[in-house]
Formats: sequence, structure tokens, C-alpha cells
Amino acid sequence: MFRNEPITDFSIAENRAAVETALKLLHQRIANNEIYACPIINGKELRNKEVFERHDPADFRLVIGRTSLATEADADAALASLKAGKDHWEETSVAERAATLRRIAAQMRSERLALAALIIREAGKPWREADADIAEAIDFCEYYADEMLRLGSPFKLMDVLGEDNQYLYQPRGIALVISPWNFPLAIACGMTVAALVTGNCAILKPAESTSLIGYAFAKIVLAAGVSPSAFAFLPGRGELIGRRLVHSPDVAMICFTGSRAVGLEILNSAATLGLGQTTIKKVILELGGKNAIIVDEDADLDEAVKGALNSAFSYAGQKCSACSRIIVVGGAYEPFLRRFCDAASNIIVGPAAESGTLLCPVIDVASQKRILAVIAESETNAHAAFKGSTPTEGNYVPATIFRDVATSSSLWREEVFGPVVAARQAASFEEAVALAIDSQYALTGAVFTRTPSHIDYAKRKFKVGNLYINRGCTGALVCRQPFGGFKLSGVGSKAGGPDYLLQFMEPRAITENTMRRGFTPQST
Ligand code: NAD
Repeated sequence: MFRNEPITDFSIAENRAAVETALKLLHQRIANNEIYACPIINGKELRNKEVFERHDPADFRLVIGRTSLATEADADAALASLKAGKDHWEETSVAERAATLRRIAAQMRSERLALAALIIREAGKPWREADADIAEAIDFCEYYADEMLRLGSPFKLMDVLGEDNQYLYQPRGIALVISPWNFPLAIACGMTVAALVTGNCAILKPAESTSLIGYAFAKIVLAAGVSPSAFAFLPGRGELIGRRLVHSPDVAMICFTGSRAVGLEILNSAATLGLGQTTIKKVILELGGKNAIIVDEDADLDEAVKGALNSAFSYAGQKCSACSRIIVVGGAYEPFLRRFCDAASNIIVGPAAESGTLLCPVIDVASQKRILAVIAESETNAHAAFKGSTPTEGNYVPATIFRDVATSSSLWREEVFGPVVAARQAASFEEAVALAIDSQYALTGAVFTRTPSHIDYAKRKFKVGNLYINRGCTGALVCRQPFGGFKLSGVGSKAGGPDYLLQFMEPRAITENTMRRGFTPQST
């Protein structure tokens, strides 16, 4: 029976020491310029001229590693290789494909410390977040392996005399996986292994900023026994090779997690038939959110402050599930805001590599500039109840809490993807829910309340993909909180849930008339 991979307990000194050692080892390899990534096609590593240098989010002068970027010709070569290997992988038994996922999980367990160190340095994720990223990746492998064993044999349909009815699933073909940087292992892994276990070939195109982690994962996939002609790794520029692959008539499905603008562009391109295309592309999009936490008048403020703080500021708010709006009911508004701002002034700000850090630098200088501009613009039309301080070196953005934010403002309506919260008061719980769902997004949300009728009301009316009651709105676990939203937060079924794998397959129904008079003898 599936169980979530345990997360590491960093209150234990040996666990902390193990990560420190892994970070030191990685630091040495960084100093020796040993860290690199490159395209892998048909099991072969390619070195191209164009190289992307990944800079440390905490010290922009330091290059962590270099990625040799895939070219458009590589994209075409990868597709050709997968086309040739498609039938072989499809015919590999379900049991073997599931076993391959378990080997990928086992390898990630054994490389857990090295992977954590790389995520901490490359993605700039604080320790606990990096550890959870790996645990989630392992969960995806184990859960989807179980799921495929459930779905992998033909189902018997209604029994009628003289008729045998079967229902089965077949893979779609070549799946293109395009992943974001903020869950550099978990999301890249989840989408890729779902494609592979269902019998599809997969091309993984990781985000530019986290290609080093993508490469470490790609090596694990191949070492675990995925056929080299069933999997290709293509680090490269989204607008170049991402686009090239999206347009290819050979791609049968696209699994994308990232921004709304790119997701909608992909959906649009997928609707145009390419030369010789014989399949309508299936597209799964997991996009952004504008997630709200509601604090009811009778809420336990200790819990609400803790939940909101972590949801808004951990990993500097760079999660699609992060809290970016807080709606407080009636008289709880002032006490909650006071305590929330007090608590925000005590969060530990620093590089991800330091064990206690909650608020780390954002992913890159471009993100830092963009979020600082959002804060500057918001300061002209809303009141900042709190603005933290940050070190001067590194891509830091201060934790910022705006109060009485107008519902018409872009701060209230648009995804920021940084440590910025917009708060406002609601006259009643019903009004708070109405404000929360008045958004183009519907990804996550949370409610802190001690009123049972308000819990019932939230369950009925607070319509988001993942609703949490009396806890924060981040930290979904595979199988326990299958993850994903609707409205402009995406299309497709929830990752880590019972419907997810179905999207990677086409159902077929087969009916046999069994009333005939015997079979033609056949030699064996
Ligand atoms: P992004 O859209 O900039 O990039 C995502 C991926 O798309 C990258 O691999 C990128 O190289 C590629 N890409 C860029 N342009 C492309 C193009 N024209 N064609 C094909 N591929 C292209 O997003 P990001 O900055 O990496 O991630 C942040 C966004 O992701 C946020 O909006 C966040 O909410 C969202 N996100 C959603 C979820 C979810 O599960 N719903 C999870 C994580 C992140």
C-alpha cells in the first residue's frame, strides 16, 4: 500500500550534519567547475556551443554549473530517436515499466543528499523545501507505479451471453514534458514518469534555471533501465526548442507546468495541425494561482499566523500554491494583521544553503527586478503594513504585506510569484469567501475558522482545486492532496491523484462475439 516518503527531520543533529557535508562536497565540485548538464539523445550526451551559466541566487557572481543547450536539430534528432523506439517501450510489460519507476525512486533515495544539495544551490530552495521536493518525486514514482498496475490490464465490462467486452488503455505516443524551475525535481519527475509508466516515450525539457537538477534526474531515469530510445533530455531555451517541440507533428501530448502566458501559447499551437500529423495533441496545463487564506473572526490566530506565514513566505513565495491574498473577517482584522506583521519581522532571511532560512533569494535577477517593481508600484496605491529587510548581496526581495488592498488592483488580481501579500477585511465569512473566489484562478485556498457551519459553507462555496481547512495552503502530498486547479489555473486532472495517469492514455473498447462455432486449428 502506498505511503508517502518520510521527510527528513532536521531537528536531528546527524541529519543536519549530513546535509552540511553534501553541501561542502557540492561546493568543492562547483569550485572545480565540475557541474554541468547537456542534452541526452538515445543515451548519448551531446556538447553544443551555446552554454547557459547558472548563477547562484545568493551570489550572482558565482557560476554553479553550465548547461550545454540543445539546438533545434537536437530536438528533431530526439524526436526521430523516440519514433524509432516507441513500439519497443510500448510493448515493455506494465510490470517492468512499474518496476522501472520503483528503481528510479530507489536511486533518488540513495542520492537524496546530493540531490538536496544541488536543489539548494541551483534552485535556491531552503533545506526543508529541497528535501520535500525529493520526497515528492519519490512519491510520484511509487504512486504512479501502483496506479499503472491497477490500470494496466484490460477491464471486463458488462457480461452478456455470447459477448465478451473489454476496456483497455493504450499509450498516446511521444509525450513532451516541459517543466518549471520551482519544483525542479518533483514536477519534472512526476510528469516524466507518468508518461513513461503509461507506455509513452518522453522528452523532458527542463526550465533553463534548473537544468542541472533535470540532468541529474535524466541520468537516474536511464540508469534505472528506461530504454534510451524511449527517453530524451533536452535542456534548452523554451522559446526556441520548447516551441520547436510543441509544433512537431510527432508529439502526441504535451504536459506543461509553468506560466499562464506560455501555457496558453502551447494550447493554441497544439490546435494547429502540422504536416503529416495524425493525432490531435492532448495538452495538460498546470498554471498559476492567486491563492487566498481566509481568517475567520473566531479563528485560532496562533494557527492562522503560522499557516499564513509559511504559505506566503517559504521559498520566497515562489510556489503556484503560495498564499498571496489574506481576507480577515470583522474584528479579527487588526489583531491578525498586527501579529502577522510581527511574525513576518522575525522570519529568517538568508541564503538557502543556511539551515534555518525561510525567506531565500528569488530565482534570478530578472525575477527580483520584476517583484521589486510590483512592490514599488503597489506602494503608490496601497499601504504597506510591513516590509522586511534583506541582505544587499543576492536576489533578495523583502517580505511585504499590504493592507486594505483594493479588489480592482493588479496586486489583488495578478499572480506575483514572490513574497508579497495583499490583505483586506471582509464584513462576514460569506463576503470573505466571495472575495476569495472572485479570481480568474482557482488553485489553492485555506480557511481558519472554529465555526462548523463556516467549514461546511467553505466546502460548498470556496471552489478551488485544493482547499485546506485550518491549515496553510501549500504542501500538497501525493495521494493525500492530489494537486491542481481549474479556471485559468489549468486544464487536466490532478497530479498525484487517481485520474492523473488516464490523461496519458487512450481508452479502447473491444467486443468479441463468442457465439461462433469453434476456432481454426493453429500450429503453435
Ligand atoms: P515559464 O512558463 O516561464 O517556464 C516554464 C517552462 O516553459 C520552462 O521550461 C521554459 O523553458 C518553457 N518555455 C518558455 N517559453 C516557452 C515556449 N514559448 N514554448 C515552450 N516552452 C516554453 O514558467 P516558470 O517561470 O518556470 O514557472 C513559474 C510559473 O509556473 C508560475 O506561473 C507558477 O504559478 C507556475 N507553476 C504552476 C504549478 C502548478 O502545479 N499549477 C506548479 C509550479 C509552477
